[in-house]
Amino acid sequence: MPRGRLAPTPTGFLHVGHARTFALAAERARRDGGTLVYRTEDLDASRCRPEFAEAAMADLRWLGLDWQEGPDVGGPCGPYVQSQRQPWFAEVWRQLQATGAIYPCDKSRQDVARALTAPHAEDDAEPIFPPALRPALGQGREAREPGAQNWRFRVPDGETIAFTDALRGPQAFVAGRDFGDFLVWRRDGFPAYELAVVADDQAMDITEVVRGADLLLSTARQLLIYRALGWAAPSWAHAPLIVDAEGRRLAKRTAGLSIRELRAAGRSPTEVLTAPLSALL
Ligand code: GLU
Repeated sequence: MPRGRLAPTPTGFLHVGHARTFALAAERARRDGGTLVYRTEDLDASRCRPEFAEAAMADLRWLGLDWQEGPDVGGPCGPYVQSQRQPWFAEVWRQLQATGAIYPCDKSRQDVARALTAPHAEDDAEPIFPPALRPALGQGREAREPGAQNWRFRVPDGETIAFTDALRGPQAFVAGRDFGDFLVWRRDGFPAYELAVVADDQAMDITEVVRGADLLLSTARQLLIYRALGWAAPSWAHAPLIVDAEGRRLAKRTAGLSIRELRAAGRSPTEVLTAPLSALL
């Protein structure tokens, strides 16, 4: 049976872009009687707030989205809040570490910036981790705990990571060119996003991941984690990002387009989900 998920990060109020991506995720999961799972991704304690987690669920319920498993309704794969899933993440770290795919990394942002030969193209793009800063193969093999250090996944330089997106068709990214060694564990003791998402999509038996197109590159990274662990990956559908009149991506701070503001302004769920943005402002 299909299983899809909604996985918001509670760092602010959800906006119309989230509403549309999540509605698509809900619709695709529920086709053929599948199950929709709700998961709160609150591992970044400095930016996430419980009131945003509550607001996200209330806003999505108001829109009519209906999940069968989640923080408020429970289910067999819980807890459905990532900050309560640390034992599972530690277990996945151990499995990944045993494969030799990851290494401890003591390089700072400044080290990375200094080692980069060329400035990276887009300001918000993550710089490619310079291969010159990698430790020798086997470094960290003896570790039994992640400890207070960052861990990175060693990507297979030059290999094309390809997948078929259910909405966008064939996709291909080259490891070492489009993305470099990426964080899987943070020295604050929590898993990095890429590890946490794979760990939980696996544990929650997700068959299709529907999310915004800003995460396409993450899918390539996540496929490498699935492969290293010998897990079957889900299928993928990346929804187009909603942009404002100037072509900028909506952010959680974009005024006037949060689900709650639109609701307070008298908009209906159908309008929030389908009206042209210009008609909502
Ligand atoms: N929690 C992530 C976010 O809100 C999305 C994770 C995912 O869908 O894989 O940006």
